[in-house]
Amino acid sequence: MPANPDAADLLQHIWGYAEFRGLQREVIEHVLGGGDALVLMPTGGGKSLCFQIPALLRDGLGIVVSPLIALMQDQVAALRELGLRAAFLNSTLDAETARRVQEQARRGDLDLLYMAPERLLSDSGQRLLDQCRIALFAIDEAHCVSQWGHDFRPEYGQLSILRERWPHVPRVALTATADVPTRQEIADKLLRDGRAFVSSFDRPNIRYRVVEKRDGRAQLLQFIRGEHAGDCGVVYCLSRNTVEEVATMLAAQDIAALPYHAGLSAEMRAHHLRRFLDEDGIVMVATIAFGMGIDKPDVRFVAHLDMPRSIEGYFQETGRAGRDGLLAQAWLAYGLQDVVQQRRLIELSEADATYKRLSTAKLDAMLALAEAADCRRVRLLAYFDETSTPCGNCDNCLSPPELIDATESAQKLLSTIYRCQQASGTRFAATHIIDVLRGKRGDKVERYGHHAVSTFGIGADLDEQDWRSLLRQLVAQHLVEVDAAHFNVLQLGAASREVLRGQRRILLKRRAPGSERKRRAPRG
Ligand code: ADP
Ligand code: ZN
Repeated sequence: MPANPDAADLLQHIWGYAEFRGLQREVIEHVLGGGDALVLMPTGGGKSLCFQIPALLRDGLGIVVSPLIALMQDQVAALRELGLRAAFLNSTLDAETARRVQEQARRGDLDLLYMAPERLLSDSGQRLLDQCRIALFAIDEAHCVSQWGHDFRPEYGQLSILRERWPHVPRVALTATADVPTRQEIADKLLRDGRAFVSSFDRPNIRYRVVEKRDGRAQLLQFIRGEHAGDCGVVYCLSRNTVEEVATMLAAQDIAALPYHAGLSAEMRAHHLRRFLDEDGIVMVATIAFGMGIDKPDVRFVAHLDMPRSIEGYFQETGRAGRDGLLAQAWLAYGLQDVVQQRRLIELSEADATYKRLSTAKLDAMLALAEAADCRRVRLLAYFDETSTPCGNCDNCLSPPELIDATESAQKLLSTIYRCQQASGTRFAATHIIDVLRGKRGDKVERYGHHAVSTFGIGADLDEQDWRSLLRQLVAQHLVEVDAAHFNVLQLGAASREVLRGQRRILLKRRAPGSERKRRAPRG
């Protein structure tokens, strides 16, 4: 190592890498010059060096704020292995060790100190920082400042104190997930005239795929058996209950599945995580409690049995697949019930009106992605402000759906909802409406006299599945609203008039034979 090493020397001599990757060099130079930086790179993109190298080159100690205790330990261990002077302060340390670490920090015997945010914000944490010479602040997982994000941590919001108390110490905020408003929020709360360094979010080896949910669990089983037998994977479910049930179901089918959710004991979670990391071919069935900071290279698939509530969530969760660069699949089963359920969750949440509005907008963007008939990757990247061309490695690129003009069918569906409500003075759920459309004279149709409404039987040209698919699309676009509090009855949305008047066109996707849509999933 030369006497006065520069960034490239450290990269070579300490890390053993020949070249900087992507935007690393630019970030490092900017921070060395004393600037604040927002670093957006996908997981595995090499964010750590962006603050580790400047921390070594600048005078003093680099303070790294990280919300993940487990990750902190790993990172510190890895740095020590490289011969660097690193330590962490969090609730897992005994008083004696913590005291020793603080002493080292004060004496200037550390290059990097990782701290949990609550530790940093505490009085003793602030006092400690006052007594140290600080090279920079790195704020990892910086999207946790976002009130609208799914990883919101209140302590993160208070980190704005850093720029107030130490205005001359550069700050680096890092995240793998942030849409444009979240970026703004990070910059507003944590940085001062910060520059954003955004690398591409494309994960070209991940194949995105969305299937219509009929019997989700059976479809999942078929997907794993047919395409990922023996592979390591993650299955995300919305609730702890579903996690347990699906893990049990898969295990009964001789798939090495383990549950993971916040309701399990800490020991059990740690044990399952260890097995997932150490053994081959484990399928982790989990809520979103599983994931942030998990870095296993050979995860071959990430399956969603319930729809994520935002594109960021979806991107982050699917991003855990294929870190080794080899082909991996992101598989999502999606149905009308997902839309209804997610909207209901927003409605029932205790959040204020602004939060609900934003959550609804995020959900709608996710719905549009799930409903899309064109390249999923183009849409995904567009959400992160990145333009691209059709990828050739998503379901819609690989087997383009046939699009049929379904405006007239949509009009029939909307009219039937309207007429049944008019005729009976009450509202009805999807099954009934579809029965009326298809001219099925069941008990309920007879009882309400709906065989007499003018639209009875005018929709016999489409099968039930097509009607459901059409309805799902109308619901996703708010043309029909589902009242989840009242037996999922349907009601026309305000914009439905545009469709009824022929001012808005509705397209229905049809998959080529042999693709997912035509394959009947086995029951069981
Ligand atoms: P992130 O924090 O963005 O998820 P990391 O900083 O953990 O990513 O880096 C991911 C992996 O890439 C690590 O194993 C790291 O050592 C490696 N890496 C980072 N920068 C380089 C580089 N310039 N050349 C080669 N490997 C790199
Ligand atoms: Zn594509």
